[in-house]
Amino acid sequence: MTEILYYEYPTVTECSAEVVSCAEKGGRFAVVLTRSPIFPEGGGQLADGGTIFTDKKTARILDCQTEGGETVHYLDAPFEVGERVIVRLDLESRLDHAEQHTGEHILSGLASKLFSAKNVGFHMAEDYCTIDLDIPLEKEQLEALEVEANKAVRANLSIHTEITDGEDASKRELRKRAEKAVGEVRIVYIDHGKVDSCTCCGTHLHTTGMVGSIRITDAQHYKGGTRLFFACGNRASRLSMEEHAAMSELARRYSTSRENLASAVYKQMDELNAMKSELRQKSALLAAKTAEELMKAAETKGGARLVFGSFENLGANDLKLICEEVSKLAEAEKTAFAALVFSVSNDGTDYRMACSNGFKLSMKELCAAVNAALCGKGGGSPVFAQGRSERKLDEGTAESLKRYLYAAG
Ligand SMILES: [Zn+2]
Repeated sequence: MTEILYYEYPTVTECSAEVVSCAEKGGRFAVVLTRSPIFPEGGGQLADGGTIFTDKKTARILDCQTEGGETVHYLDAPFEVGERVIVRLDLESRLDHAEQHTGEHILSGLASKLFSAKNVGFHMAEDYCTIDLDIPLEKEQLEALEVEANKAVRANLSIHTEITDGEDASKRELRKRAEKAVGEVRIVYIDHGKVDSCTCCGTHLHTTGMVGSIRITDAQHYKGGTRLFFACGNRASRLSMEEHAAMSELARRYSTSRENLASAVYKQMDELNAMKSELRQKSALLAAKTAEELMKAAETKGGARLVFGSFENLGANDLKLICEEVSKLAEAEKTAFAALVFSVSNDGTDYRMACSNGFKLSMKELCAAVNAALCGKGGGSPVFAQGRSERKLDEGTAESLKRYLYAAG
């Protein structure tokens, strides 16, 4: 059984050890050592990173798992059984994981004390951490939780662990306990239980002050409760720096201060909405006017008004509006109709087509003909179809498509 050092000697970052076994597993090498400072993934916490080396070679620790009671290091290079090696912990990753994990205890302990919210899940990844709480929390409650968590950090409270057995642990008042614990049970206390108390196998910091700061970065409804996203320590300060830089850049673009950025953005949103509404009105007017002109120029064949139009740089929605306006005019004239309209821009050609119910040519069929002529893509129903091509509609093709439409009259 591997002698593990991370509980008794949490500050030990390096030790010598002997290789007990080494086996290839899926392109990696599973190595068991006589002892190790490497924490294996467990209790929601990621495995430590690090290296294992001799004076001749170095292998990177890609993962570390507890398997059959052994600590198994997954490496990118093999070692011989019996070989003496040095195991070196990547302190940066240990500290990062301990910062997130200790922060998780503080948040979970306080969520329980403040709101009787129960932690029902914890996940730590390299770029985010989550806690799942069993009840929905309001925005104000989340703010209060973040404030209280940072108060606990600033108070630099003690964090200590006690080893006991399952029976004793079951008698203690704990926020959370491992179910059916057998053998040794490790209990973590923050401020002697005033902030948190629970059974845990992870690595922690010695005091809450070492967490530095705790940020709740996001929250969402999740399975009837709340999923909190959070960042602690160096992750939290990096996040603050990134947000500060992004806010400063935005403020510069808006020619305002960071403090006034929100009102500048809201003002621009209002202006944009007003412009959109104005544009919608102008588009409707333009479509009505264009439809009128198209109807005037339309040919009548077999009792149907045949409308053809080609424009430059109109939006695809404008083409649809023109079709709708033509339809309204035809209805007012109590006549059947078919309309085919194009908009040509430097990017290609948009096309829309519409007809009255029962028109001889299905718009689906007409669209297929336009697609074929322009190498475009599109489709629709018998009375309305739409498509787009990256080609520009030239005069010859426009003329032949117009004839194709007119021939259907
Ligand atoms: Zn823990």
